[in-house]
Amino acid sequence: MQNELIINSVYIVSAALFIFGLKLLSHPSTARKGNLLSALGMLLAICITLIDQNIIGYEWIALSLGLGAVVGLIIAKKVQLTSMPEMVSLLNGVGGLASLVVSLVMLMSGALPAYIVIILLIAIAIGGVTFTGSLVAWSKLSGKMSILIKSKAMVFKGQAFANSILLLCIIGLAAAAVIMPQEYVYAFIFVGLCLVLGVMLVLPIGGADMPVVISLLNSYSGLAACAAGIAMSNNLLIVAGALVGASGIILTSIMCKAMNRSLSNVLFSGFQAVSGETIKIEGEIKAISCEDAYYTLEASQSVLVIPGYGMAVAQAQHAMKELQSLLEANGAEVVYGIHPVAGRMPGHMNVLLAEADVPYELLLEMDEVNPRMENYDVAIVIGANDVVNPAAREMKGSPIYGMPIINADLAKNVFIMKRSMASGFAGIDNPLFFKDNARMIFGDAKESLNNIIRQFAD
Ligand code: NDP
Repeated sequence: MQNELIINSVYIVSAALFIFGLKLLSHPSTARKGNLLSALGMLLAICITLIDQNIIGYEWIALSLGLGAVVGLIIAKKVQLTSMPEMVSLLNGVGGLASLVVSLVMLMSGALPAYIVIILLIAIAIGGVTFTGSLVAWSKLSGKMSILIKSKAMVFKGQAFANSILLLCIIGLAAAAVIMPQEYVYAFIFVGLCLVLGVMLVLPIGGADMPVVISLLNSYSGLAACAAGIAMSNNLLIVAGALVGASGIILTSIMCKAMNRSLSNVLFSGFQAVSGETIKIEGEIKAISCEDAYYTLEASQSVLVIPGYGMAVAQAQHAMKELQSLLEANGAEVVYGIHPVAGRMPGHMNVLLAEADVPYELLLEMDEVNPRMENYDVAIVIGANDVVNPAAREMKGSPIYGMPIINADLAKNVFIMKRSMASGFAGIDNPLFFKDNARMIFGDAKESLNNIIRQFAD
């Protein structure tokens, strides 16, 4: 009784730390503290589990805590910021797997009331879909298994029909597992089919829709944990799972809005790249040297910087901060326009620019910069492509048609820093590069920025 009281009191403290942590995570200036508070909440939760001898032996918990901490530390130190979505994908996957394993073990632990079996089956289903779905999302993002799994949407004839049959079988097996709980064979086939469903659900998603899927899988991993928590009567697991589930679904909805897609459209319609033959782009490409770009920038009063994934690849944020200071010293106003899906993870650009000490108040959202686009003397696009693609506005046949973009093409001048004419993540051509007011600065973004900075010094 005393133990239970201590455990539940610590659980309340942990839950409060998670909630405060989440709140602090919502702003870059407090995000580190938020992360630390949440981690502290999790450490408390794990340590207090040591008191509850019903779970597993102390030695196992201590061993997993130690091992997990070492593996987590190595991965966190090694991972590049540009690979974060892949890592998040894997973490979602193992979260789902953990809920699946815990629920399966409980299911086989003996006679359970039917409603607990149902909740456990729900936890297993969501956990299984999250696990294999996240593995597919990881391979699509990393391209590590591209022979088997293509990054683009993999759609085949009869896919919807096959998925419906799969779903029916899963429901049938779940019913059998509830009616005959001692016949574990139904539960095992149920697990297998849920794992297959995870693969089937993520295969047809690709291209620019991947960020939505990752945050949706994140939400699933929380829901699976929440269901497992209900079945095990573990209050903290319920709270933590619900927090992850709810925040994941809110992020999913924000991302869908940012891409002007509905969730069902993302999940079931397959992002299709349209080939250059279907959409004809007119105009010609005009390159500009860093020296000439400098003359225009030197004469500019207001400059908008639009960063994208290429800024992360080139690690050009520090050079951009330096150029910002030079432009400001020259009397220009410099602001940054941040698209919600720029880069490869939510907040990617904010993190990079914060690392380079760019003040937060200079980071403006898409809706703030678009109405005053005509007033910017120069828009510098640093390694961004999809998020400034006017095909989203002008080309009805384009797969990104309708997606809100930063209207860089409406600025007086546009400088685009990239290495080649290659397309961005969505794999589609960009008419911005062919506009009359657009000039390409070919090369690595950091080198190009440093070249311009040198012109200021000369
Ligand atoms: P894009 O992926 O559309 O384009 C990036 C551009 O950067 C490329 O065209 C590339 O051109 C250029 N580039 C790469 N390396 C360098 C370098 N060293 N120097 C200069 N340029 C470089 O990026 P955006 O940020 O515009 O768009 C993000 C895309 O990613 C969207 O489609 C979004 O949906 C998707 N996505 C977003 C996620 C998120 O959560 N934010 C997660 C997963 C996907 P080149 O090769 O010619 O240099």
